[in-house]
Amino acid sequence: MSLPLPAIPLLRAESHSFSYSDEEIEAEAVRLQEAIQQHQRWPLETCRGIAPLTLEINRLKKEKDVFLIAHTYQTPDIIYGVADEVADSYTLSKAARDASQQTILFSSVRFMAETAKIVSPHKTVIHPSPEAGCSLSDGITAQDVRDLRAQYPGVPVACYINTTAAVKAECDVSVTSSNYLRICERLPGDKLIFVPDRFMGAHLQKALQGKKEVIVFDGECEVHAVFTGEKVRQWRQRIGDNLSILAHPECSADVLEEADFVGSSEKLIHEAIRLGKEGQPDVMLITECGTAERIMAEAEEELNLYGACVMCRHMKVTQLEDILQALQNPRDDQIIEIDSEVIIRAQHNLDEMFRLAE
Ligand code: SF4
Repeated sequence: MSLPLPAIPLLRAESHSFSYSDEEIEAEAVRLQEAIQQHQRWPLETCRGIAPLTLEINRLKKEKDVFLIAHTYQTPDIIYGVADEVADSYTLSKAARDASQQTILFSSVRFMAETAKIVSPHKTVIHPSPEAGCSLSDGITAQDVRDLRAQYPGVPVACYINTTAAVKAECDVSVTSSNYLRICERLPGDKLIFVPDRFMGAHLQKALQGKKEVIVFDGECEVHAVFTGEKVRQWRQRIGDNLSILAHPECSADVLEEADFVGSSEKLIHEAIRLGKEGQPDVMLITECGTAERIMAEAEEELNLYGACVMCRHMKVTQLEDILQALQNPRDDQIIEIDSEVIIRAQHNLDEMFRLAE
């Protein structure tokens, strides 16, 4: 695979002394390396360094009956070392709701852990990195939504799931990158307000042209905003018409116009694997680096991944050591607490999403 991936996060496992035997550490290191499937970036020596941490986290998860879920953009040591479920935001919000365990540890950014709490208010939701935000969710407040409602009375408000619980409580329905077109089309009336992603909003405006007017807020994902149509065209010229371009809908319209396939990270992974199986190995991924890392680990056929992914600094804040600490003895700020009235209103918003997405 030719996609240049940024350096892996610094590992600090040496500072821990757990009572695992050399044989247990060796077996865990081999398991990790085989699961991650990037033998150069994750050599056996590196896997040996993190093996005591993953062994200890997995032991504690069992002992404390914790379900650990991780977003696709987390690092491979978390995804393949300790996560019980890995997916995009839509699938994870359902996994949190349906898990039998009463404690969820959510390795991701803050708004996702809040979403898990909204759908499972009676469960304890632990978020190891309270400082892990998101340029989309941090770019809009509940007051911004109230102001839009005052400006456009009676117009339904759809919010991308990348929003805080307080913002969800002010909106009629959440949407994800898997279902935003379907849900927005089904909202009543000939007008809707879409927050906070201006790129996804522009995509909606185009898709619903002639059917609905879409009023769009001005937020953006700082990761997907980096890609440009010009760069994508250059890669197409360099590699040729065999190149399949797969893009996330948080990218600009200019990028999406060049794409052969647009979808959530989960859909991008499935599409890349499908292309590999059909003998079309030249793929350019326009999204966060974690998607490429999962394809490398999960595709059976060899793929040529072109271009340069962009790393989300918020998603990469969490390391195995943060997860271990949060499992051992979570601080107050690592346990998600949301005002009960906000939960009820945000729950209604998410119930609407599950209903309209079917
Ligand atoms: S990739 Fe973008 S949308 Fe996702 S958490 Fe990072 S900043 Fe937010």
